[in-house]
Amino acid sequence: MDRVFGGIEAGGTNFVCAIGTGPGDIRHEIEFPTTTPDETLGRAIDFFWSKDLDLAAIGIASFGPVDLEPSSSTYGHITSTPKRGWEGTDIAGRVRQALKLPTGFDTDVNGAALGEYRWGAAQGLDTFVYLTVGTGIGGGGMVAGRLMHGLVHPEMGHIRLPHDRAADPFPGSCPFHGDCLEGLASGPALEARWGRAPETLPADHAAWPLEAHYLALALVNLICTLSPQRIILGGGVMKNRGLFPLIREKVQELLNGYVQAREIMDEIEGFVVPPALGDQAGVLGAIALAARAAENQARQR
Ligand code: ZN
Repeated sequence: MDRVFGGIEAGGTNFVCAIGTGPGDIRHEIEFPTTTPDETLGRAIDFFWSKDLDLAAIGIASFGPVDLEPSSSTYGHITSTPKRGWEGTDIAGRVRQALKLPTGFDTDVNGAALGEYRWGAAQGLDTFVYLTVGTGIGGGGMVAGRLMHGLVHPEMGHIRLPHDRAADPFPGSCPFHGDCLEGLASGPALEARWGRAPETLPADHAAWPLEAHYLALALVNLICTLSPQRIILGGGVMKNRGLFPLIREKVQELLNGYVQAREIMDEIEGFVVPPALGDQAGVLGAIALAARAAENQARQR
């Protein structure tokens, strides 16, 4: 029998823990609010203990920023988060010590990207971006078949965009930068600018063309710097599927024929896409990190 994996989608608002092998085979799942590190990690560990299954590995797809450098003394820690009580938490170490299993650890967006690579919208590609637009904005993905890490890990949500304050006087909501991408286009930014939650804004509201404008500017920057073969847009704000055609059209308009790729010029419907794994992209990403940790361990033997 194939061994199963444990996945922890560690979000700043909620934790989702699951046991399974991939899409269509999630055997147990639990979701609970993110409170203190002790309580939250304790609940996650208890969930895996209580099922008494022979798990091959655990994967953690975490909110961040996180330390992903294996040689660092704070590898697996959450670093400078504004989330109270979590700064400096050794999330990967605590889980590994409690469960005594190979533990894969990465950002939530790199996890989701790996899940889409294994089972979803990025199969067969080697360079792509996964961008989530929700409570925050974060991006990850692969370059030449490797998850993007580098110096720390990408912080695509905090890139700077042209901001015409005459057209959009909203100063931005990022506590670090004001009007970075996240400050202009995250769910909380939409709510602060328009005075109501994004999911309550009607389809013809002026919020959406402006949102598409900012996201298209961000995508054009990512296209020009990383040359992705596809961009996957997930997260709560992107549940408004009407954003996709607006963004695609503006991406083409902004690039103005400069990037001569059929995928962008003629087939952009397949270039800017929603996650194929839908709402499960996060937790399946954690399972994918676990599967990879198990494979890495098998290779080392
Ligand atoms: Zn920012």
